[in-house]
Amino acid sequence: MINRIKKVACLLLLVTSFITVATQSSHQIAVTQLSKNVYALNGQGFGSNVGVVVDDDGLLLIDAMSPGEKNHKALMAALRTISDKPVKFVINTHAHRDHAGGNQFFADLGATIIAQSHVRYIPKTSNRYKATYNQILAADHMTITFAGLTIDLYPKMSHTHHDLIVHIPAADVVFTGDNHATDWGPNIGATGLKGQLALLDFVMSLTTNASHVVPGHGEVTNKAHVLAYKQHTKKWYQTIANLYKQGKTPAQMLDNADLQQSIAFFAGEGDNEGYLKPENIQRRIQRTLSGFLPNAIVIDDLAHYQGLYIQQDGTNLIVKLINNKLFAKVDGGFMAQLIPTNERTFRLRGWGENEVVEFTLSPTKQVTNATLHIEAI
Ligand SMILES: [Zn+2]
Repeated sequence: MINRIKKVACLLLLVTSFITVATQSSHQIAVTQLSKNVYALNGQGFGSNVGVVVDDDGLLLIDAMSPGEKNHKALMAALRTISDKPVKFVINTHAHRDHAGGNQFFADLGATIIAQSHVRYIPKTSNRYKATYNQILAADHMTITFAGLTIDLYPKMSHTHHDLIVHIPAADVVFTGDNHATDWGPNIGATGLKGQLALLDFVMSLTTNASHVVPGHGEVTNKAHVLAYKQHTKKWYQTIANLYKQGKTPAQMLDNADLQQSIAFFAGEGDNEGYLKPENIQRRIQRTLSGFLPNAIVIDDLAHYQGLYIQQDGTNLIVKLINNKLFAKVDGGFMAQLIPTNERTFRLRGWGENEVVEFTLSPTKQVTNATLHIEAI
């Protein structure tokens, strides 16, 4: 059980021991034992991978797969091959529905949900999460003791602005969420290429060559794969940037040999026809391009959008003009360039297309308010 939850200034380094990995398949979800009481469940077909920490009187999960009875049942069946104890905690690596979709199910059974504090910017009207994503919010590095293990939670921003990297030093395992995968990618997200590369460097700083790395999707892997994933991510971005300068369309980019090499790496070893469909690859190229495409429309007077806008939850959204570009910043959180799609709606550069700042304009076109909307995908 959780004995204490507190913020710590530094990471406790523990000597890790050699661990035998044994995998057994049950009820369609493959269960891999990573240490005496830490397991990884392969979520293929059910949503995300799931980490399980087993104590004498309860379980702690890292992610909870997709919503839906079929997924909950399969997950419960896999958990029951490990322990008959109740799920006491669910930690979300981020709020996407294939990771947090089981939140409500486990909350109804009495579990406490732990997520990164930026999930508070996801609209409460989203029926994907209800009230279950914010029972405990990690704003800073937080440690939990469960089953005698120290579990470090690191709030980050890369795949989403609400990422949590979960590290269990004594079991020598890191859970990366969707910042890393063995069967798809690349995943340049909320903080662009720079943020993604920094995140992968951070994951590597927590690991040795013997460490287990559990990605959001795909097989349990290791530091060498994270390094290769980083190199291919960098190459992918640079290749697309060069081809874009040459005037190539996403469809024309598909034929590039360097890109093809990275696509093969990201697809991994398994059967991944879905990822390899040309339309899916093109969508991934388009998403990468959205990070450096010019503004959707030009607004001459951006200065009057500047201001401090207090959000419903009391946090401050600051909109500021820097070098004739508009930026949004939130308390203790992120900063992103605002790209106007019309005179009211500005998207966050390089972020998902549903993430916007919405300005309220008076009949005389004065800006009277601004709200940040971050939709989980
Ligand atoms: Zn995701």
